Amino acid sequence: MSDSTDFAAEYLAGATMPALIGGRWVEAEHRATLTTRDPGTGAPLAKVPAMDRGDVDHAVQAAHHAFRHSGWATMSAAERGVLLHRLADEVERRKLAIARVEAADAGKILTQAEGDVQNLVDTLRYFIEMSLRVQRRTPLAVRGHEAATVRLPWGACGFIFPWNFPFLLIGWGISPALVAGNTVVIKPAEDTPLSALMLGRIAQEVGIPDGVINVVTGTGEAAGAALAGHPGLRRMSFTGSPEVGRLVAEACGRNLVPVKLELGGKGAAVVFDDVDIDATADKLAKAITFHTGQVCCDATRWLVQRSIYDRFVEACVARLEQIRVGYQLEPATQMGPVVNAKQRERVLGYLDRGRAEGAKLVLPGGRANVPGHDGFYVKPALLAGSLDNVAAREEIFGPVAYLTPFDDEEQAVALANDTDYGLANSVWSADLDRARQVAEQMVAGNSWINAHNVFPLGVPYGGIKKSGMGGGVLSVEAFLDYTRGLSVVRPL
Ligand code: NAD
Repeated sequence: MSDSTDFAAEYLAGATMPALIGGRWVEAEHRATLTTRDPGTGAPLAKVPAMDRGDVDHAVQAAHHAFRHSGWATMSAAERGVLLHRLADEVERRKLAIARVEAADAGKILTQAEGDVQNLVDTLRYFIEMSLRVQRRTPLAVRGHEAATVRLPWGACGFIFPWNFPFLLIGWGISPALVAGNTVVIKPAEDTPLSALMLGRIAQEVGIPDGVINVVTGTGEAAGAALAGHPGLRRMSFTGSPEVGRLVAEACGRNLVPVKLELGGKGAAVVFDDVDIDATADKLAKAITFHTGQVCCDATRWLVQRSIYDRFVEACVARLEQIRVGYQLEPATQMGPVVNAKQRERVLGYLDRGRAEGAKLVLPGGRANVPGHDGFYVKPALLAGSLDNVAAREEIFGPVAYLTPFDDEEQAVALANDTDYGLANSVWSADLDRARQVAEQMVAGNSWINAHNVFPLGVPYGGIKKSGMGGGVLSVEAFLDYTRGLSVVRPL
């Protein structure tokens, strides 16, 4: 196996990196490519095949073939576990190389990219262990019959991923599917295709059978839409925006393919007046600048009890003003670029529209200049005012938080729930009974107490309303989603 440094360099040398279908490294049928760039400099990193319907069809067929003929679906969970443990071990061994590529491709700070790679390793190991213990045959006590239900893998499963946590989300998505015996076709985002290709390469090297993991690259409109609408899939999983999620769900609906959607958010942090103001401001400032605010479950609406509102805002401004915006691979950088020029325009556009609708710019944000690096940088921003403002209602996906005061618990809950989204909120208070009561009134998939962005393995993570449907990830339910039930009955 190649050395770690060479492994990373290969993906960053400007070459065309082929996609993986049925164990073969292939170009697009029509030879088209797209270029992936470093968001911190705008410089090209690599080319990947711009695949479309024909290529995606080959990939789904390859996944089917592997499901039926490679032995993957029929081997024991322990045998699959051995191969997948090898994959986890080898990814961990090459963590730095993958993180180096992910950091360059996604504009991620290197230590955060390393954390993402480790997260895939941990998630995979967690599901491997689960697959060894979950009971797949349940005898049923039914009068006059011998009966049982068995749980079996579905077959070829499709996965479409966004650009904000490319490698980590692959781990959350495909781990339960693979341990259950399914085969997968992965479509990474066009901005961040490289780490998925690295995973495919390592899977092949450690002996995962050909066709079990396929990676198709290309745009959402071509490769993504072809995968979402493929009638040969048995399950589909999409992580991304609600707008595209709706298109994917429509396409799956036409084929009656079950679909899981993990979508956007507009989470609230409810801050009561008994908190440690400095410590809470510190944590929320870190949350909103983490990966430059491009986090689906971020706390983007900060609801603060009126009696501490002014002091809290002051503490937040002081922290956000100090954030060092810079190139993601420089050790002193605290906040890197956003992913591309379009995303920067989106963030700046929301600041303008928010102000035009009457929001106060407490910290104005705007473009950040990083000398020597011509990338897509913005500064953190804080807006304040009424929550019917566009910047308080829509997902911005940048380092922008919106502040508003509240008077009591009832009003805080009403404000937090007054959104089209339902992904994750947090409640901050020294009174844990109150915090729990408020947390349990949230209309969302996740409520966190005195913390934000918390994902322990074993706790289901998913959204409702515009934030998702069809399940969630990181728990036994996600594993069960990747098995189908079959009842077997014999009259006595
Ligand atoms: P996006 O919806 O634009 O793209 C996501 C993926 O869908 C990409 O791979 C893209 O190529 C593909 N795609 C685009 N058009 C398509 C089409 N017509 N048919 C099929 N596929 C298509 O999202 P994004 O901008 O990459 O990511 C940001 C969004 O993802 C935000 O809304 C964020 O909140 C959400 N997100 C949610 C979670 C979660 O776990 N709930 C996690 C991360 C990101």
